[in-house]
Amino acid sequence: MLLKNMQIPMRRKQILKMNKKIPLRQCVGCGEMKNKKEMIRVLKTPEGPIVLDFTGKKNGRGAYLCKNEECLKKARKNKGIERSFKMAIQNEVYDELEKEFGEAYAEQ
Ligand SMILES: [Zn+2]
Repeated sequence: MLLKNMQIPMRRKQILKMNKKIPLRQCVGCGEMKNKKEMIRVLKTPEGPIVLDFTGKKNGRGAYLCKNEECLKKARKNKGIERSFKMAIQNEVYDELEKEFGEAYAEQ
């Protein structure tokens, strides 16, 4: 985890350079701004359930996370997704998201 934190200043510099062209989104876990293509969208669907939107194209209200399980865990702790969606999120929902996340972006 320490290694990842050390990489942040460099990424930030790169992002500033490209700032004009690229739509940035803030990660609800670590708070970093990133190209939304590098992120995963957490979607609150009109029907209610919260899902991971791997295409970024589904309808609904979205929150963004880095493609990093740690950020989902941080978001769970700091209630970033709750704030973003203005609703309470049950533990089971997080468990389900973490499972999906882990399957998609397992650390090697
Ligand atoms: Zn993050």
